[in-house]
Amino acid sequence: MGNYRKKIIELFSLLLSLAGFSLTAQPGDRWKAGSAGELRDTVQTVYCFVEIENNPWSFSEKATMLASLHESQQWLISQANRWKTPLYFHTDELVEGRNILFDSISSGTGSGKERVDWIGNVVKKAGYRNARHAYRKMSKKYHNKKLHVVVFARADGISYALRYAKGMSKKKYFLEGILVYQRYDNGAGMPVTSIIAHEILHIYGAWDLYTTYAQTREKHTKATELYPDDIMLRVGYDMEILKVDRLTAWLLGWNTQEEEIFEWFRPGDYSK
Ligand SMILES: [Zn+2]
Repeated sequence: MGNYRKKIIELFSLLLSLAGFSLTAQPGDRWKAGSAGELRDTVQTVYCFVEIENNPWSFSEKATMLASLHESQQWLISQANRWKTPLYFHTDELVEGRNILFDSISSGTGSGKERVDWIGNVVKKAGYRNARHAYRKMSKKYHNKKLHVVVFARADGISYALRYAKGMSKKKYFLEGILVYQRYDNGAGMPVTSIIAHEILHIYGAWDLYTTYAQTREKHTKATELYPDDIMLRVGYDMEILKVDRLTAWLLGWNTQEEEIFEWFRPGDYSK
């Protein structure tokens, strides 16, 4: 009888550990919500070009940005494949052949105080009622619940991600995306391909590993030691040397081997 009980307990703890195993990779994280659900299988990208009057995108500037978008997608696919994860992108324009006009475009300064309502604003200009409405319509149109918006702004600034977490207004923010500026705010050219990849990874759950308003210098130093080429630590022109390393891959659900140190890197702007 004692033996039988022991067997039951063993079986029960085995089941528990199996459940624990499948629960790695941040499944309950409040930031793993929103339209950018999981970066695997087929993901829909919807892009648009935003400009102000008298400062329009030229045809060749747009072509350059779209080439970078395509390159960043190819890079993400190859990184996912390194982690044995299938990934494909479908890409479409928000409003075919039409740029979206704003009265002004504020610059991103990397302060964490940038405007976060871009996606809601662009989809309204495209005829949707709000971000949630656009998400519902688009997920039907593309037969895909995993989608994000890439907004190219003809202005200078530090690009950033527009993320949704449980507890935020779905109506305003459920549809996630990124805002990509044309140049840095000092007018310098920037490595657009790696910046697009970095920001897209944010909306699918990746954390900054460099010093920001929400990330400490101490963690930056540790990340430099452990994940020197991770794209969440640094961006650059040479995509060949950048990669999605263990921690970032775990946050994305590509790496199921959780390590104790991972959670320590959680930045303040991804608080639980
Ligand atoms: Zn970042």
